[in-house]
Amino acid sequence: MKRYVYSELTEKEIAKLCKRPKMHFDDIFEVVNPIIDDVRSEGDKAVSRYTRKFDGAAPEPLTLSPEDEAPVLNDEIKEAIDTAFKNIYRFHKAQLPNAMEVETMPGVRCMRVTRPIERVGLYVPGGTAMLPSTLMMLGIPAALAGCREIVIATPPGKDNLVADELTYIAKKIGASVILQSGGAQAIAAMAFGTESVPKVNKIFGPGNQYVTAAKMQLQNSEAQVAIDMPAGPSEVLVIADDYAEPVYVAADLLSQAEHGSDSQVVLLATKGFDWDQCKQELDKQLEQLPRKKMAEKALNHSFSIEVESLEQAFNFSNRFAPEHLIIQCESAESHVDEIYSAGSVFLGKWSPESAGDYASGTNHTLPTYGYARMYSGVSVDSFCKYITMQHLSKEGLKNIASSVERLAQLEELEGHRRAVSLRLEE
Ligand code: NAD
Repeated sequence: MKRYVYSELTEKEIAKLCKRPKMHFDDIFEVVNPIIDDVRSEGDKAVSRYTRKFDGAAPEPLTLSPEDEAPVLNDEIKEAIDTAFKNIYRFHKAQLPNAMEVETMPGVRCMRVTRPIERVGLYVPGGTAMLPSTLMMLGIPAALAGCREIVIATPPGKDNLVADELTYIAKKIGASVILQSGGAQAIAAMAFGTESVPKVNKIFGPGNQYVTAAKMQLQNSEAQVAIDMPAGPSEVLVIADDYAEPVYVAADLLSQAEHGSDSQVVLLATKGFDWDQCKQELDKQLEQLPRKKMAEKALNHSFSIEVESLEQAFNFSNRFAPEHLIIQCESAESHVDEIYSAGSVFLGKWSPESAGDYASGTNHTLPTYGYARMYSGVSVDSFCKYITMQHLSKEGLKNIASSVERLAQLEELEGHRRAVSLRLEE
C-alpha cells in the first residue's frame, strides 16, 4: 500500500486520491446490447441459450416456484441464516414509514401515503460464489414493504440447480419466482418480462460488469424499469488513531481486499498508530487467505495516508465518500457528527465490517464509487413509493384562493386561475 503524508499533499493530489479508477463500459455494452435485444424479442428461448453459453448449464424448467421447493440445509447453516434473517428483519421493520397528514392552512389538509413498488426483481450474483446474504439484504426489505411480486434471478450451478440456501430464503421472503439464470440475460428478462418471468418495475442487486451494464442500459429504456443505484467495485476506508489495534486494522483491510482485485482499500491513521505492526500483520494475514492473489492485487493499488489529526481524516473521508467506513479510534461514537458521506459506518474495535455484511441487521447493498455523496444504501424505502393526497374544504379553498389565482396569472395559466375562481363564484 502506498503511503502519503496528508500535510504534504496538494489540493490537486487529494482530489486525485478521492477519484475512483475509470470504468470502461463501451466494450461491455457491445456484448450486453445484443443479449438484451435477443431476450426482448425471443424471451425464454434467448435466456436459456445465453445461460448455456455463459454458465454451461441448462436448467429445466427455467423458473422455479419457491413454494414448491423443499430445501435441505444442515442445522448449523440453517441457524446461521435464521439469526441473520431475524436481525435484518428487526432493523428493517423499524424503518417502515408512517402515514403523514399536515393541515397547512385551515381547511387545507395534505397527506402522504406509502405504497410498495408492486413487482421487484432481485439479482443475486452467483458466478464465482453463492451469496445467500445478498438475497436476505434485498428480500427482507422487499417483503416488509409489501411488494406483491418478488422475482429472484441467480445463475444456476453447473448441476443446473439453485442452491438450497437460496430457495430456503426465497420461501421465507415469499418470493414468487426464481429465474435460474444470471448476467445480462437475467436482467433483461426481468426488465421486459418473458413467457415464464414476470416483468418487474425495479431491479435490485449487485453483479459483475455485464450485470451492471445491463442495468444501466435498461433503466431509461422502453422497458420502463428503475434500478437501485449505480454500482462500482466494493470499498472500505479505515480511520485509525494511536489506540487502534494494528491486528484488527489489517484484518479489516484484508476482508475488503479479498472481495476482488478491483476492491478499493484506504487507511487513514495518525502518526502514533503502529504502522510497522500493521504492515507486518498485513503480510502475515495475507498468507493465510485462500483468496490471497485477489487481495494482493487489490492492496497493490490501495493507499494509506498519515494524518496529523482526526479532523483531517474525517475531511478526507467525507470527500472520498466510502461505501464502508470503519472507525478504530478511542471513543469512536463521539465522531458520528463529523461523518457526512459514507454508505455504512462501523464504530469501534469490536465492530468489523463482516458483522454488517452478514448478520448485525444493517443492509450491505451500499453506494460505491463516491455515490455515497448522494445515494443511500438499500432500505425499506427503496421498495416504496410515496403518494401525496389533499383534501380542501370550501373554507380551505377560500383561504388559499388569492395565492393560487395570483401565481396562475403570473405564469399566464388562465385555466388554472379559473379552476379556482369558478368554484368560489358559486
Ligand atoms: P454474477 O452473477 O454477477 O455474474 C455471472 C454472470 O455473468 C453469468 O451468469 C453470465 O451470464 C455472465 N457472464 C459471464 N461471462 C460473460 C461474458 N463473457 N459475456 C457475457 N456475460 C457473461 O457473478 P460474478 O461474476 O461472481 O460477480 C459478482 C459481482 O458482484 C462481483 O463483482 C462482486 O464483487 C459483486 N458483489 C457485490 C456486492 C455488494 O454488495 N457490493 C455483494 C456481492 C457481490
